[in-house]
Amino acid sequence: MPAPSNHPPPPTGTLLVVDSDAEARAALSRIFENEGLRVFAAGDAPEALRLLHREACDLIVLDPEMPGIDGLALCRVLRAQSATKRMPIIIISRRDEEEQKVGAFNAGADDFVVKSATTGELLSRVNAHLDAAARESDLVGRNRELSFLADLGRGLLHALEPLQVARRVAGATYEAANAVVCAAFVESGAGAAGEERSGAAVCVFDREGSAEGAALLHLERLRGWLGTNPLAAAVADDPAQFFLRDAEHHVEYVAPLRFERRAIGALIAAFDRREDCRETEARLIDAAAQQAALAAHISALYEAARSASASLAVEVERRTAEAEAQRRFTETIIDSLPVSLYAVDRDYRIVAWNRNRELGGQGVPRGEALGRNIFDVLTRQPRETLEREFSRAFETGHIERVEQESVAADGSPRHWLVSKIPMQTGSSDGDKVSHVIGVGEDITERVTANRAVARTEKLAAVGRLAAGVVHEINNPLATIAACAEALESRVAEGAYGESIGAVADLSEYLALIRSEAFRCKSITNGLLDFSRNRAGERVPIDVGHVIEASVRLLQHQRRGRTVEFRVESQSGLARVAGDAGQLQQVLIILAENAIDAMPEGGTLHFRAGSDGSRVLVAVSDTGVGIAPEDLPRIFDPFFTTKEVGRGTGLGLAVCYGIVTEHDGRISVESTVGRGTTFTLALPALESRAEG
Ligand code: ADP
Ligand code: MG
Repeated sequence: MPAPSNHPPPPTGTLLVVDSDAEARAALSRIFENEGLRVFAAGDAPEALRLLHREACDLIVLDPEMPGIDGLALCRVLRAQSATKRMPIIIISRRDEEEQKVGAFNAGADDFVVKSATTGELLSRVNAHLDAAARESDLVGRNRELSFLADLGRGLLHALEPLQVARRVAGATYEAANAVVCAAFVESGAGAAGEERSGAAVCVFDREGSAEGAALLHLERLRGWLGTNPLAAAVADDPAQFFLRDAEHHVEYVAPLRFERRAIGALIAAFDRREDCRETEARLIDAAAQQAALAAHISALYEAARSASASLAVEVERRTAEAEAQRRFTETIIDSLPVSLYAVDRDYRIVAWNRNRELGGQGVPRGEALGRNIFDVLTRQPRETLEREFSRAFETGHIERVEQESVAADGSPRHWLVSKIPMQTGSSDGDKVSHVIGVGEDITERVTANRAVARTEKLAAVGRLAAGVVHEINNPLATIAACAEALESRVAEGAYGESIGAVADLSEYLALIRSEAFRCKSITNGLLDFSRNRAGERVPIDVGHVIEASVRLLQHQRRGRTVEFRVESQSGLARVAGDAGQLQQVLIILAENAIDAMPEGGTLHFRAGSDGSRVLVAVSDTGVGIAPEDLPRIFDPFFTTKEVGRGTGLGLAVCYGIVTEHDGRISVESTVGRGTTFTLALPALESRAEG
């Protein structure tokens, strides 16, 4: 762009002199031309009209007396046309008569001068009218400008995108500035400072209508000019410098859209003639450009906000998908577990239900379970028991475990380890338990295997006990045999007459035989009782009796000879639900271990007591104790510290299995060199006083 002139020069005064007298015409023209005014001259009305159509004039000097259409008629015609409606018309008349004057003013003339008037008067009148006309046109222009700007401002209020801004401002300016073409160019992405300018919105208006797109501009040229950060508008009349492509115009007026000291676009108006682009148009285009700049800035902010919210939406969508995938993954994990699982919230509403829980005889489809109350779904179990288990898990935060038995479709028993696992979801309620997870694990195989092991162990114990029993039975049998022999020889001697002493003797032998025989019987009965297999039975049991029976069996063990047995039982102890044979097995295993631990002798102490809800049985010895590093492993199957042939390592594993099956716990305390105490804790049935 060449160094641009800021505004078009103010229009010079242009006069039209209409007079049929050629001499008078020339004389008048000279007077005005000498004043520096531009003058056109016409000899009659038609010529005057033609000239006015071609050239822009500011004032008409008119001779009223002309052949053909006279001056007053022409005056009326001019007043009827919008282009000349307000143009000052001065009638110059030869005659200074009232009738003439009235006629002139009636026709619409602004002034009346007689031809004999001095040059000075004529000029001062013309100048006064030119001045007034200029003022009026200025006022009209400003008025038009103001209403244009108000309209444009209102329109731009609703333009939220750069293209809308370009369209509104180009359209409005095209109309208001009377341009042949008007284009607006708005850089988009111009709002965010430092950001790469991403694109541009272009809208062009001409006679044909409007078009959008940068193809209509010499874009590089325009960007180059904007790059110089122009402060003001430029006017170009060299087509080589035009920004509008292929347009048949002669002048371009280009105003930059400036915001915060940056040119962020341009408003280009093209005119056919230099005179069409006057100060009024220039001011109007500049003002429009200013408004457009503000609107363009706002639209850029709007676009930035919109794209931010769009990318936010994308991010939200991505995170949602991620969470969904995570949820599905977790669900798959839960579904793949070989346990049946569900979860309830504090209102006992089911919030999770895995695939395994849908299967089997007691399975329920997930769709029928989710959202419902757990007690409405698990109807096979007594509601009170279930409620108690749940509320304990909610209150204590401890895992509740119970073993349950059910019968499969084929009639075989199934064993379940059912756990209620408290869960805290944190946040809202501190560390309160918010949910409880119910897990059912099929432990039939484990239980079956445990029982098989227990049976084997028991047979081994029976074998060991039998050896002791045989030894123990030998003594009474020898006594019985000796008594029988003595009786036999007395009978052979014929010693049994009427003598009182003989009868007394006989009764003594018989009593001995009977008592010894009963002793044998009680020993073998104990052994038979123990060896009988009644696994799984649950009846109320007095643990005191179980201890006594166990001690009776154990006392015959030869290796226990150096061991002193002590039994201490709290009176009125509650009973427990269980299998007496199995519990006796536990006590015998513990006692055998204790005896093993006291090779030099010692005390084996059985104590039965209670801690309220549970019955406690402690088996203590004064033996060698258990090394701390062995303590965690003693309940493991096959863990033994005994020499091959002496220990199987199964005893305590069996105890653990039996006690767990009785819903009980087994614990141990030991001090090396001082002794060991195993304690069984079994759920108490009713207290004896109540029951
Ligand atoms: P086993 O008696 O066949 O070794 P158990 O399972 O009965 O198997 O016992 C495992 C181990 O625990 C024993 O080998 C022993 O080391 C230890 N143990 C068990 N009870 C006692 C006890 N009362 N005193 C010391 N050690 C014991
Ligand atoms: Mg053992």
